[in-house]
Amino acid sequence: MRKPIIGGNWKMNRGAPAEAKEMLEKLIPLVKDIENVDVVVCPPFTALTASIEFVKGTNVKIGAQNMYFEDTGAFTGEISPLFLRAIECEYVILGHSERRNIFKESDDLINKKLKKALSIGLKPIVAIGEHLEERESGKTKDVIQRQMDETFKDISKEEILKIVIAYEPIWAIGTGKTATPEQAEEIHAFIRELLTQRYDKETADLIRIQYGGSIKPSNANDLLKQKNIDGGLVGGASLQANSLSEVINAASKSVQ
Ligand code: PEP
Repeated sequence: MRKPIIGGNWKMNRGAPAEAKEMLEKLIPLVKDIENVDVVVCPPFTALTASIEFVKGTNVKIGAQNMYFEDTGAFTGEISPLFLRAIECEYVILGHSERRNIFKESDDLINKKLKKALSIGLKPIVAIGEHLEERESGKTKDVIQRQMDETFKDISKEEILKIVIAYEPIWAIGTGKTATPEQAEEIHAFIRELLTQRYDKETADLIRIQYGGSIKPSNANDLLKQKNIDGGLVGGASLQANSLSEVINAASKSVQ
C-alpha cells in the first residue's frame, strides 16, 4: 500500500520566520500521532531555515516551493539546490502551475530542475495539470501525456520511485472549484497507466500521485479515498493549522 503524502503549499504567505513558527506550533501537536501519512509543509524561502529547525524531532517535514538547476553563479534572484541541501531542506515542489503560467517555466526547464534535485538527494514533488480550455475541449489526457513525457524525460526507474507526482488541474487551483472524485480518479489512473507503459506495473504501483486543487476538509475524504489518489497538495487550506490537520486526518483514514 502506498503511504499518502500531504503537502501544504503556503505559496507567498507566512514568509516571516515568526509567522511560520506560529503556524507550525499549532500544526505539530494536531498531527503528532499520525504515522501513516507523510506530512510536508512548504513555506517561502525566507521561512525555510526557521521552519526546518522548528520541526526537528517531529513528524512534519519541510519542502521548498521551487529551486534553480545550477549550483551557483550569476542567476540573480534564484535559489541553488545546494543551498536547500545545506539547510537540510528535504522536499522541493517543481513545476507548480503558478511557476509554469506566471513565470513561464517550460517542461524542459522543469526536467532540468528535476534531474538536479534527484542528483543531490532532494525529494521532488512534481506538479502537472491541464487548463480549463484544455479540459473543455477534451484534451486533458493529451496534455497530461505531453507533460509526463517531457517533464520526466530520461528519468530512470530508480529515479521515478523517488518522485511524488501532483496532479493539479489548473482550473481547480485557488478557485474553490474542485475536480469531482471521479474526474480526479480518472486522471490519476491514467497517469498510473502511463507510468506502467513507461516503466512497469510494479514500479507504477509504488509511485505516489497527489491530487491538488481546492482540497479542504469538506471534500478531502471523498477525494483521498479514491484508489489512485495518494494524498494531496494543499494551498489555501494549508494556511490554517486546523484545516490542514483535518485534511491530513482524512488521508490517514483513507488507508485504515
Ligand atoms: C496548490 O497551490 O497547489 C493548490 C492546490 O492550491 P489550492 O489548494 O488553494 O487550490
